[in-house]
Amino acid sequence: MTAEKIILITGASRGIGAATALMAASRGYHVCVNYVKNEVAANAIVKKIEDIGGKAFAYQADVGDEAQVKEMFRQIDIKLGPITALVNNAGTLELQSRVEGISNERFLRTLKNNIVGTFLCSKEAIIRMSTHNGGKGGSIVNVSSIGAKTGSPGEYVDYAAAKGAIDSFTIGLSKEIGSEGIRVNAVRPGFIYTDIHESGGEPGRVDRIKSSIPLQRGGSPDEVASAILWLLSDEASYTSGTFIDIAGGK
Ligand code: NAP
Repeated sequence: MTAEKIILITGASRGIGAATALMAASRGYHVCVNYVKNEVAANAIVKKIEDIGGKAFAYQADVGDEAQVKEMFRQIDIKLGPITALVNNAGTLELQSRVEGISNERFLRTLKNNIVGTFLCSKEAIIRMSTHNGGKGGSIVNVSSIGAKTGSPGEYVDYAAAKGAIDSFTIGLSKEIGSEGIRVNAVRPGFIYTDIHESGGEPGRVDRIKSSIPLQRGGSPDEVASAILWLLSDEASYTSGTFIDIAGGK
């Protein structure tokens, strides 16, 4: 009998997280579909997973809130069993602005929703997965952004800085726990058709930019999900501390 694959995907009610949840379920993972606001959308993803014979549950938790994250992992222990994979996908950005227009509150909120959430969820996963703590190992994929490399000038330098922190966290964590059965990697998407661009105040952003992308088009959430699932899988068994850019060659 093969061991059960149990995964938490944060921010899985829509966009890249939802695509990853559906693809993971189709590959035999039992899935915790995390969301923060949109219960209806999260339940719809769970229903789609159940319709293909999979197992999943939706769970509301703000990944930037330590108590809520701890309780989410406790519920995963109870409802699905010991976690074997984590995708730190939840992330937010706010209205496009130069740095002078970004408030301290917004900067801190952006750090909380992106890097703090990644830290808190990774910590709970490591407590359970690390062979050092009696676990059986596992795999973590962080969802960074191509913005970590470009810096997103004039749009959201705060968001790019938070994603840069995710990159450094990925490198350090992969080295720290590599000998404890856990691989840690990241993807850096860019220009993917999801609702996140609406949060930036420009729903049509991908279409505006696409002629400057070498592949001449925006990407789909499934194209990011494929890379995440590969990094999680045994096919990537010797891959840790690395990054896959999924930005059409830009
Ligand atoms: P999206 O469509 O805006 O979806 C964001 C998801 O995150 C939603 O499921 C949302 O839940 C959830 N979420 C937001 N804040 C949360 C919090 N504090 N706690 C728990 N869940 C939270 O975004 P997306 O485009 O799919 O982006 C997914 C990831 O890819 C993000 O990390 C983003 O930075 C990264 N990324 C995206 C692009 C792109 O072009 N789309 C490019 C680079 C990087 P609710 O539905 O409940 O609000």
